[in-house]
Amino acid sequence: MSADTIQRYESDPFMKEFDAVVVEINALPQGQGVVLDQTCFYPEGGGQPCDQGTLNGLPVLSVTESDGRIVHSIEGASFKPGDKVRGVLDWERRFDHMQQHSGQHLLSQAFVRVLKSDTVSFHLGSDESTIDVTLGEMTEQAASDVENEANRIVFENRPLRVSIRSAADLDSIPLRKKPDLSGDVRLIEIADYDWSLCCGTHVRATGEIGLIKILHWEKYKSGTRVHFACGSRALRDYQSKSGLVKSLSRVLTAGEKEIEAIILKWRDEKKVAEKRMIALLDEVLTAEAGRMVESAKQAGSCRLVSALFRDRDFQEVQNLGRKIVSSPGMVAILGAVGDRATLFFGRSADVKTDMRDLQKAAAGVLNGKGGGSPNWAQCSSERTDLAEAAIERAKSVIA
Ligand SMILES: [Zn+2]
Repeated sequence: MSADTIQRYESDPFMKEFDAVVVEINALPQGQGVVLDQTCFYPEGGGQPCDQGTLNGLPVLSVTESDGRIVHSIEGASFKPGDKVRGVLDWERRFDHMQQHSGQHLLSQAFVRVLKSDTVSFHLGSDESTIDVTLGEMTEQAASDVENEANRIVFENRPLRVSIRSAADLDSIPLRKKPDLSGDVRLIEIADYDWSLCCGTHVRATGEIGLIKILHWEKYKSGTRVHFACGSRALRDYQSKSGLVKSLSRVLTAGEKEIEAIILKWRDEKKVAEKRMIALLDEVLTAEAGRMVESAKQAGSCRLVSALFRDRDFQEVQNLGRKIVSSPGMVAILGAVGDRATLFFGRSADVKTDMRDLQKAAAGVLNGKGGGSPNWAQCSSERTDLAEAAIERAKSVIA
């Protein structure tokens, strides 16, 4: 077995290219797991995703650590031990990870200082990063206070220092999380602010983190999951939100600060208008039902109304039917045709005919499904072309 890989990212996280020698090849189903004598590629771990990039121009898809050896997974590679390789990092990806990870240390410490809340876990995702904090209830004010504190430290551009310490000598250091470790440990210090044990890659000073923004949060277990973005991600988020506000401002022909008031006013006006519309529609349906009752035709012992409506709301047709059968002696057969055909069969309280008989007759024509009670039944089908024939069949049951 080969010796441990020299992990160049530990001493120089800003090294973007390197030369190395292949020391071991592991066969993978679709390529090779390449172990080098040294590497700048950070393997997945400690909440930070692995680096990507190339070895001799071939894409490195994933990087993992196994017993001190760093394995670079490469599709279609044919390296052999002793080969010299040039490694190049996808620097944009790595620097993004460094901004999010250093930003996380800083944000977690800001939660401790402002809200006395500890971080229990960290996830660095491809779109969003999260920390789970012990805080039971988060508010807009609390989020803003923590953001202000974290960004104050960003603006002070404090150095981040990395050092290897003996776990036994950590007593004098106010670590954010007490470790259960022995031997040598890696300490990341944000000068005079935060001390954490961490194997990840970090920026050189807080200014390189860039802006730290809390995006949103939700209850998680007994605490809160906080979604945040740092650096370029925070910039992209700002650009996208600022674009949205500008676009709303154009659509509403209003200043940015007036948007909220306009939308709230519209919402209130819409509620009033909807209430008024419901009342007016009810009046219209009552009048329409009255006219239909007047022109109803005698059929057997009752008076029959039938009609098929195209592009009229299903609920509205149903309400019309209910109004018709509130008059005595009526049977109403109504249909609403849109994407589907839906037929309603209703009777007045004094009519004896079972509406389910009408429904069954119509469903036989429509090949549709339905059901109901003796007073009110309905059926529906995709065969909109058969709706008229189905109504005729139902009418024949009455006659
Ligand atoms: Zn860390």
